[in-house]
Amino acid sequence: MEMFDAAKISLDFPILSTMVYGKPLIYFDNAATTQIPQIVMDTVTNHYKTQNANVHRGIHYLSKKSTMCMEHARVLMQKFVHAESPEQIVFTSGTTESVHMIAQSYVRYLLEEDDQIIVSEFEHHSNLVVWQQLCMEKRAKLIVIPEKNGTLDMDCFISSISKKTKFVSMTMVSNVTGVQLPVKLIVQYAHEAGAAICIDGAQSVRHGVDVCRLGCDFFCFSGHKMMGPAGTGVLYIARKLLDTMRPVRFGGGMVETVYSDRTTFAPMPYRLEAGTPNYPGIIGLGAAAEYLMNLGMEEISEYEKALTVELEHMLNSVEGVTVLGKGQEKYSVVSVVMKGIHPYDAASFLDKYGIAVRSGSHCAQLIVRKYGVDSVLRFSPAFYNNFHEINTIQEKLQEIIGFFQ
Ligand code: PLP
Repeated sequence: MEMFDAAKISLDFPILSTMVYGKPLIYFDNAATTQIPQIVMDTVTNHYKTQNANVHRGIHYLSKKSTMCMEHARVLMQKFVHAESPEQIVFTSGTTESVHMIAQSYVRYLLEEDDQIIVSEFEHHSNLVVWQQLCMEKRAKLIVIPEKNGTLDMDCFISSISKKTKFVSMTMVSNVTGVQLPVKLIVQYAHEAGAAICIDGAQSVRHGVDVCRLGCDFFCFSGHKMMGPAGTGVLYIARKLLDTMRPVRFGGGMVETVYSDRTTFAPMPYRLEAGTPNYPGIIGLGAAAEYLMNLGMEEISEYEKALTVELEHMLNSVEGVTVLGKGQEKYSVVSVVMKGIHPYDAASFLDKYGIAVRSGSHCAQLIVRKYGVDSVLRFSPAFYNNFHEINTIQEKLQEIIGFFQ
């Protein structure tokens, strides 16, 4: 792969030169959080050093500058997801808050008794429990479409969706199996049934997304999963729904005029951004999006695809290791179970060699349980990883197997 120089790119990420117990760090936990390039750190630090002031409040030089930087970040995020205009980008603290915002700002006002919300068995708890709670409150029904042969059971989805379905919320890529659901088709079916649809893009966003082409009504993601600062995130909202969004939190920045007995609210997206936002983080998120776009989203995707194929191939070749979602294409996440070895033990063993992977249910207990276990071992590479690291992981996995036998 001549065009993508992962070794050179990895130098942009200072943390990757960390030594762990005397071994060079091999960071394969990118599905949990990605590392941050120097340019993002510099952008945040420089903001504090030279432009720091509260946004949208002052007319002085620094305040205007700070506001301009934050609004520039909004334009960068608009460009990153291919939204039509900046007001479709609401800044949140992450995917979890974005999903909550949809529930509280939009779905709660359209959901009535006996209506339905549809999710999938693949969901992260942050795109499941919030809908469970809302359905309980509204006496509506939550339908969970099962996994089948590694992907969504589309027959079940098609037969479940009806005029009673008011909302569909599904992940684009599973954070456990790395499999991408047929989201475009799911969006079409949802719209045909008259339901609005949210796509949880936490795992897919850094592989590139075009929200207009996807056609979804909402798209949620987190900054820390796309080389940006933690505590930042985005809620994209389709234009046609912007005016229907009701305020969820009340406070500074989201009002137009306040009287003693009533208040008129600011236009979107500010109506949903009450209080002082995490503007340094948001500005850093914009820098992360710019960094990824400069590297080339397609180039990143191709390289990560090759890395993931090699990783899965390697894992399949290790005796006693079973890959989840075998036969399905995976997006930078491959999870396994190992015969006779608990994922926690395997992850602890790998940690001693500087290899960072994650064990557990990954906040997605339904899908992990579906595979008959309560914990899996997850490997999630990013574009700064390389093929040599996969070889090292293979060696260490063989050692673990030898050790536990
Ligand atoms: N959805 C998916 C698919 C995820 O992988 C995650 C995080 O792992 C989330 C939602 C929640 O993201 P956050 O904790 O950043 O809000």
